[in-house]
Amino acid sequence: MQRIEIKRGATLEDYKAYSSLSVLIEEFTKTVAPFVEGLQDCTIWMVNSTATGGGVAEMLPSQMRIARALGVRVEWLVIEANDDHFFDLTKRIHNAIHGAGEEPFTEEDLQVFEKVNAQNLKKALEFIKDGDLVVIHDPQPMPLGKLIRQERDVKLVWRCHIGLEEHTERTRSVWKFLKQFMDDYVHFVFSLPSYVPPEIEDITTIIPPAIDPLSHKNRTLWMAKCVGILQQSGITNHHDPLLYPYYENLVRRVMPDGSFDSVNKDSDLDIIYRPVVLQISRWDRLKGFKELMEAFILMKKQNEAKSDKSTIPYKRIKSTRLVFGGPDPKYVSDDPEGMEVLNELISQYKNVSKELQEDIAILLLPLENPKENALIVNALQRSSSFVVQNSIQEGFGLTATEAMWKQRPVLVSGAAGLRFQVQHEENGLINHDPDDIGKLAEVLEQMLNSPKERDKWGFNARNRVIDKFTLFSQLKAWLKLLSEIR
Ligand code: UDP
Repeated sequence: MQRIEIKRGATLEDYKAYSSLSVLIEEFTKTVAPFVEGLQDCTIWMVNSTATGGGVAEMLPSQMRIARALGVRVEWLVIEANDDHFFDLTKRIHNAIHGAGEEPFTEEDLQVFEKVNAQNLKKALEFIKDGDLVVIHDPQPMPLGKLIRQERDVKLVWRCHIGLEEHTERTRSVWKFLKQFMDDYVHFVFSLPSYVPPEIEDITTIIPPAIDPLSHKNRTLWMAKCVGILQQSGITNHHDPLLYPYYENLVRRVMPDGSFDSVNKDSDLDIIYRPVVLQISRWDRLKGFKELMEAFILMKKQNEAKSDKSTIPYKRIKSTRLVFGGPDPKYVSDDPEGMEVLNELISQYKNVSKELQEDIAILLLPLENPKENALIVNALQRSSSFVVQNSIQEGFGLTATEAMWKQRPVLVSGAAGLRFQVQHEENGLINHDPDDIGKLAEVLEQMLNSPKERDKWGFNARNRVIDKFTLFSQLKAWLKLLSEIR
């Protein structure tokens, strides 16, 4: 068990200095005052299984920083585990909550689950005192809550960051397995209403994920800065002067023969001069990359079949490029499934005609330096005409939220998390079926050839995020809930 230090970062005053956020922050500070009052004399312990990587680790520091500035005592503990069986089990639990896998949960699983958590108990008890609040994130440390409860008079909350919209035999089996640990928790938090198992609906609060507007992934980039990042990362060609040096690890691109090389080696991507359709995600089949590439190609072919080639709509589609961004496999050797999906995409790409290959870029983003990775994602999102998230399934879809914050309109599938965020024809378009290639090609073309709507939807998209999906909405909901539980 490790206690994690929180680095210095943006303060409430820093957020408030942005006029688009100032009203939100003022309302936030006023609303949370009584909640903060109610949380005096206790410490809130956030417990999860990793201090780096993943959404929980990304969001916790900025939320904790703000909560502390308001006078709330909040700390972060990370459990330690050194047991392959434990990781295999927690992966199976994770998959089962998503409805996947078949292997039953056994008595032996139960023992490993409890044993690894029990190894963290002694240290946890050195920190946690009677009267404190303990928030356990995701399944890995779930049994620890129960163990702490046997020794300390604390209230336990379980925060589940994953979920499936329907309840299947598999999801029922995993909830049954976890039930014995859940009974000690007084409250539950899920990201979407449809993810909540019916038995705990009455003691569950919905708190969707959120973005930090001032993080490197979301902070404002003025045009020269944005272009500078594209250059520093190797996405655009060299141009003097370049204020900052090149990143140590550059973005690579899949070449027509399937090898990886510098982005503009075979043909110039031309990203800042053309309409760009962007999807950034992990290489996961459920993200719908394959279908999006097929639809893009179909749209291009249908465009070439048009008789009048002098129109702007024709020329716009002709010049559009599709950009995929995902982790460079050099940094994710622990994700064999991701490699498999990337290889499938590469095979698909190798079979595309030479001309269309120039219009499609599969970019491999370095992960070595998290700040650089975040700035690259930020610059790519800002350089796109619109952002697509064509997920077959999506827990929430922060890539859509991030784009919307940047006033980029979005084209999303009807997957649960995306439908929850995007309002059709207000901040983008929802194309319900990500598998329907013909329809997706049509909607891509519609989106590209509606420049005025795109401006309007992008503008609305930012307001939608300010209203619902910033760390302040999230923190407000947490402080309210925790002060009520206390
Ligand atoms: N992301 C990134 N670099 C990549 C690919 C993805 O930083 O090469 C980020 C992306 O910006 C987003 C997160 O990973 O913040 C993915 O979150 P999302 O909710 O979209 O999907 P998940 O990966 O959790 O299924």
